[in-house]
Amino acid sequence: MLETILKIWKTGTVAPKRSLPEPQGARRGTIDFEGTACLVCGNCEHACPTGAIRIDGAPRNATMEIQYDKCLFCGVCVATCSNQALLQTNELRIAARTRDELRVRKGRMQ
Ligand code: SF4
Ligand code: SF4
Repeated sequence: MLETILKIWKTGTVAPKRSLPEPQGARRGTIDFEGTACLVCGNCEHACPTGAIRIDGAPRNATMEIQYDKCLFCGVCVATCSNQALLQTNELRIAARTRDELRVRKGRMQ
């Protein structure tokens, strides 16, 4: 019993760690962002149906935040991007313990 409690304390789970297979084929996953290609036009932020994208700051040092707790993985932001700064990956494994961990800063725009 004590061993199980210690394991939960250290790892947060009692299940053994498993290595998962790589995602196969065309799947709509997380959004990748290339900050140097971004024009800070705001098209993606306005087009996102759930408000999952936030662009903050002045154009020269703006940052993008993607909130995966709101994201539908629909790809609309990628389709509306003015300069191919966004890319949809096939990564779907984004489990997190807190909502904050699902809010990812995608880097500084140039
Ligand atoms: S994939 Fe869809 S829901 Fe997610 S950030 Fe882009 S537009 Fe918003
Ligand atoms: S990621 Fe694309 S659509 Fe979004 S602000 Fe940058 S250039 Fe515009």
